[in-house]
Amino acid sequence: MTDIIHLLPDSVANQIAAGEVIQRPASCLKELVENSLDAGATHIKVLVRDGGRTLLQVIDNGKGMSPTDARMAFERHATSKIQQAADLFELHTMGFRGEALASICAVAHVEVTTRRLEDEIGTRLEIAGSEVITQEMTQCPVGTNMRVKNLFYNVPARRKFLKTDQTELRNLIAEYNRIVLVNPQVQFTFINNDEIISELPICSAKQRIEAVFGHSSKPFTSQLVDIQTNTELVNIYGFVGKPEAANKNSQQYMFVNGRYMRHPYFHKALMTAYSGLLASEYSPSYFIYFEIAPDAIDVNIHPTKTEIKFADEQAIFQILLATVREALGKFNVAPSLDFASETRIEMPQPTSAPISITAPHLKVDPTYNPFKKNNTHTAQSLPKDWMGLYDQPANVYSNKESPTFALSNDNTPILQWQNKYIVVPTDNGIMLIHQHRAHTAILYKELLQQLKNQQSISQTLLFPEILDLSNNDMQTLQDMQVELQVLGFDLDQFSPNSYSINAVPMQLGTNNPSETLLQIIHQVQDTGGTATQQWQENMALTLADKMAIPLGKTLSEIEMRDLLSRLEEQHPSRFLNNGQTIITIITNDEIQKRF
Ligand code: ADP
Ligand code: MG
Repeated sequence: MTDIIHLLPDSVANQIAAGEVIQRPASCLKELVENSLDAGATHIKVLVRDGGRTLLQVIDNGKGMSPTDARMAFERHATSKIQQAADLFELHTMGFRGEALASICAVAHVEVTTRRLEDEIGTRLEIAGSEVITQEMTQCPVGTNMRVKNLFYNVPARRKFLKTDQTELRNLIAEYNRIVLVNPQVQFTFINNDEIISELPICSAKQRIEAVFGHSSKPFTSQLVDIQTNTELVNIYGFVGKPEAANKNSQQYMFVNGRYMRHPYFHKALMTAYSGLLASEYSPSYFIYFEIAPDAIDVNIHPTKTEIKFADEQAIFQILLATVREALGKFNVAPSLDFASETRIEMPQPTSAPISITAPHLKVDPTYNPFKKNNTHTAQSLPKDWMGLYDQPANVYSNKESPTFALSNDNTPILQWQNKYIVVPTDNGIMLIHQHRAHTAILYKELLQQLKNQQSISQTLLFPEILDLSNNDMQTLQDMQVELQVLGFDLDQFSPNSYSINAVPMQLGTNNPSETLLQIIHQVQDTGGTATQQWQENMALTLADKMAIPLGKTLSEIEMRDLLSRLEEQHPSRFLNNGQTIITIITNDEIQKRF
């Protein structure tokens, strides 16, 4: 057999969204276990020590690697799984970016032993800080044994972000659960500090759910109702909780083609199916498995994020809603509810006939490039006369006394209008600057810079604030935690459904941080969650908006000039990222026409 790993062409590699693959031990675990699954393993053993800090080990009985492949595997964009961009639409493996092992060996000590079935002898490799330290032949079983030691030993900033061993272990287990629940055909073992904490034999999906969440005293899956529907567009199967079993600690999982995913929109379909059946603070458990043609979804999301785009979300929403409604109706699970309030219970109509949904044909644009960021506010969308307003300052600001007119020129008289706008005379007309948005633009750029440099200034709260969250918000927050920390939030999980806010970004002030955080969470959810490339920008924008001087605030001349000079330093655009206008000019022509 020949070696099977090859390097992706640069063009493809560059298309693949770069990003930090390894944020914490749990993300490392995910990558290792997914590799084992891709290698066809039927038994995967996970060993961790000290919350994954000192050791994260994954042993599989998969197909193993040749000595050359074992070495190649740690190169960036080395993958055996895809060869060209088009393959991304035919994805049948968990991995494809070829960056996980390269990222891991850059930030940890890695030791791997591996052997293929056809090889008599295996290979042992030691790598630290991306350098191969040893490679030798060794006796070992078929499969791969990856030991990742001392994660982030050379990245103090990342190490600092790690939480207590207990919290990291919880994250590891959460990640492990997301994988084992959708791979019941694989046997798993999880060992923490030499203690077996999970042993899962090969079984059915339902038995796997029971094994993960059940207690011997109380069967978990007896509270679930089966759902199943096959349409041209998508196959859906899974289990949804009986309404009367809903509680505050529901387990909610969705998977597509063997991957865990978060999908706020489909979540809404589920919640709609339950509407009227639940007391407001309770939510149902669900485990939904979607199967869909690989080219109808876009998994090329940030490697550590779990949002997945579907080509036809609305149709799937309807299919899911109808399927769950039917299941809840068919099993007549609704009437046992006992509401104290006068809430009217809307009973879903039990349908005897199978639901008939004509699945729409897939409309997949073959030229659609999921990696391309669609910039909604490009220069083209600006009126022509505004193009390059700041690229060619001489055009707009040509001024005899000071040819390179600056917004902050001390000689230009400026004034504040209605405590909202700063008025600046220019050669071309009267420039109006929206004070709140101008400040937002300034802070936004600063925050993005912070995210890039991972340096923040925060202000510790005298009394930590406790923020209670729904399951959904909880997940979003966990997905963004590293970025929030970089922005200056210091958060700790306080209970299964709450966080304590210990510190906030300096400029935010200590006023109502919970509300700000919730706004960021919801804003991120509304704009497609942490999956989109723009989510960090969205988060920074929301935060900047919160921090910026409000409308209605009287500004001194010094404050105004300071604002203008900071704005000018950034070569600002006329618009905020959300399309709002920051700067406008009432031109001389327009003024002239009025007379
Ligand atoms: P990707 O999974 O995106 O291809 P990785 O960096 O995770 O990239 O892995 C690089 C390559 O190393 C994989 O394509 C695969 O060929 C090989 N590999 C990694 N882990 C294993 C494993 N446990 N068993 C067999 N091959 C593996
Ligand atoms: Mg991989």
